[in-house]
Amino acid sequence: MSSLQPVRGTHDLLPEQMRAHRAVSDTARHVAALYGFDEIATPIFEKTEVFKRTLGDTSDIVTKEMYTFAMKEGEEITLRPEGTAGVARAFMSNGLSQSLPLKLFYSGPMFRHERPQKGRQRQFHQFGAEFLGVPKPEADAEIIALGVHILRELGVYQDTKLELNTLGDVESRKAYRGALIEYFSAHRDRLSEDSLNRLEKNPLRILDSKDEGDRELVATAPLFWDYLNEESRDFFEKVKSCLDALGIAYEHNTRLVRGLDYYGHTAFEFTTTALGAQGTVLAGGRYDALVKTMGGPDTPGVGFAAGVERLAMLSDRVVEAPRPLAIIPMGAEAETMAFKVASDLRYAGHRVELGYSGNMKKRLTRANRDNAFAAIILGEDELAQGAVTFRDLTSGEQELVKLDLLEQRLHSYL
Ligand code: ATP
Ligand code: MG
Repeated sequence: MSSLQPVRGTHDLLPEQMRAHRAVSDTARHVAALYGFDEIATPIFEKTEVFKRTLGDTSDIVTKEMYTFAMKEGEEITLRPEGTAGVARAFMSNGLSQSLPLKLFYSGPMFRHERPQKGRQRQFHQFGAEFLGVPKPEADAEIIALGVHILRELGVYQDTKLELNTLGDVESRKAYRGALIEYFSAHRDRLSEDSLNRLEKNPLRILDSKDEGDRELVATAPLFWDYLNEESRDFFEKVKSCLDALGIAYEHNTRLVRGLDYYGHTAFEFTTTALGAQGTVLAGGRYDALVKTMGGPDTPGVGFAAGVERLAMLSDRVVEAPRPLAIIPMGAEAETMAFKVASDLRYAGHRVELGYSGNMKKRLTRANRDNAFAAIILGEDELAQGAVTFRDLTSGEQELVKLDLLEQRLHSYL
C-alpha cells in the first residue's frame, strides 16, 4: 500500500543510520562547546513572515521551497526551511540583546519542497552556529575556524575545499547591483524567466542561478571585487589574514554568493566533489542586516549551517552499537534472579541484554548476535554457590564470580 511508504523526500533513520547521524551532530555540538557556543532549540514552525521577511521575496526558498499552512485562526505558518531566521526571532522575542555577544548552536530537522535526489531531501537535518553582536572580521574567522574544526573532527576536512568571498557592505552592494542591472539588462533575451524576475528585485541572485543559460551569462558578468569600497576590502583582508594565521586554506571564489538576502561581507562554503552534484556540506556568512530587517535592534551576526545527511554520507563511518553484556539464566529460580542481577548492573551503568527463552546454546548464539562482549550465566550450580559464571565471549575464557563481587569484577568494562 503506497500509504505505507514515507512521504517523498523524507526518510526513516533506522538505528544504524541514526547512530551515524548522531555521531555527526554530537561531534558538532561537542566542538561548538569548545568555542563557547551554547545550544538553543527553536520551534520547527514559525509564522510565515519570519522567513519571508528575512530570506527575501526572490530567494529559491521563499519562491518555491516553503511548506506553508493556513491555521484555523487564519494565521499562516511555515515549517522552518533553515535555522537562522528562527534564532534571530528568538533573540528578539526573548530580549536577548542585553546579553550580547551571544554564541548559539542548534541542530534539528529542516523542510524544503525541492526535487528529491541523492543528498537532497524534503526533510533533512542541519546543525548550525550563530555568533551575534560582534561586527569584527575576527568573528567571521572564528566561525570559519569552528567549521574547520568540526569537519576535521568528523574526518572529512581533507575531502573539502573552503571557498570564500565577500559581498561587501551596503554601499558596495549598491554599486555592484547597479553594474549587474546594466549588464544583465543588455542580455535580457538570454535570461531565464526566474532571473528576469530577479533582475529588478535582486540581481545578485542571478549569480547563484542553476540555469545553464544564466550561468553562461554569469561567467562574463562584472566582478564584485571591482565594486568594493575600501572598508569592504579591508574587512575581507582581515578575515583572510586571520585564516592565514590559523593555517586555514581557502580559495577566493569571486562568484560565490549566498542564496539569501540578509548576507553581507563574508560568504563561505565548504564544498566537496565526493557527493556528486550536491557538493556543499557547510555554508555561511555574515548577516549584519538580518535582525534589523526583522524589526529588531541593529545587531551584527555571522554564522553557518551544515547538512547532517551530507556529512554523514561523506564521513561514511559505520558507528557500531555499544556492546552489551548478556545475562543467561537457566531454570525458573535463575530467571527471577537474573532480573535482579540485570537491574543492579543497569543501575551501575552497564548495557545489559536479558535472554528470556531457549536452551543455553540458543541463548549464547543470541548473545553473539547481539555482539555481547561477555555472558553472565546463572545456572543451578552457580545459584547454589551464590555466584555466576562470567564468560568472555571473545576469548571464551570463563570464571566463577561471587554475586556480591560481580559489580567490582565488571567495573573495568564500564
Ligand atoms: P544547495 O545549493 O545545495 O541547494 P543551499 O544553498 O540551499 O544548498 P543552505 O541553505 O546554505 O543550502 O543550507 C546549508 C546546508 O544544508 C547545505 O550546504 C547542505 O549541506 C544542507 N542542505 C540544504 N538543503 C538540503 C536538502 N534539501 N537536503 C539535504 N541537505 C540540504
Ligand atoms: Mg537549496
